[in-house]
Amino acid sequence: MIKSEKLSIAGELAAGIAHEIRNPITSIKGFLQLMQSSEYEKEIYFDIMSSEINRIELILSELLMLAKPQATQTAPRDVTMILEDVVALMQPEAILKNVHIQVMAEIEQAVVDCEENQLKQVFINFIKNAIEAMPDGGVLNIIVTNSSSNELSLQFTDQGCGIPEELISKLGQPFYTTKEKGTGLGFMVSKRIIENHHGTVDIHSKLNEGTTIEVKLPI
Ligand code: ADP
Ligand code: MG
Repeated sequence: MIKSEKLSIAGELAAGIAHEIRNPITSIKGFLQLMQSSEYEKEIYFDIMSSEINRIELILSELLMLAKPQATQTAPRDVTMILEDVVALMQPEAILKNVHIQVMAEIEQAVVDCEENQLKQVFINFIKNAIEAMPDGGVLNIIVTNSSSNELSLQFTDQGCGIPEELISKLGQPFYTTKEKGTGLGFMVSKRIIENHHGTVDIHSKLNEGTTIEVKLPI
């Protein structure tokens, strides 16, 4: 069952990737043809071509995250420390957007058997989404706690735009995005990584009030 589920996700992804990557390639090809035939200013073609190539790179780098788990090894790591590293990394972007990030660890130790770089990527994705949901600034609260004796809970609570209830189910689908420059891959890739760690991701959201993404990991 797991194998056939993986195959169907691979198929869904492959179809999505083909579509998403064809668009920027078509545009690059079009501008190359224009450049071959025109005698006018070509600077704008270069700008568009380089931004389309950046887009291809962004899509591929997010997808690569999915391909990595097979090759990497897990080790016991303190999740609060990983989280604090990521928050420090995201601080400049948060400050720029008037977002205050507050980490509250309600437990002393949060050691999980994990692939550190992958969890970092997950935290970056959720923090980025929270910042992007608060264009006028606000507070992002991150709580680390135990949801049971053998489970760790991480809650990312923002005061952002929220997600309409009927769209919450779309979040796990590849390429679903409401942002002009979004890829719609961050959430799906993050959920997959947490599931590969035998954990879960839950969404609680209220339109115009905010969103909580809760990650649960076995300890
Ligand atoms: P992207 O950020 O590139 O759009 P994601 O997979 O990270 O792709 O997110 C998909 C969509 O889910 C976003 O476009 C946004 O509409 C919604 N979303 C995710 N996180 C949040 C959040 N914290 N608040 C509001 N909307 C969110
Ligand atoms: Mg995102």
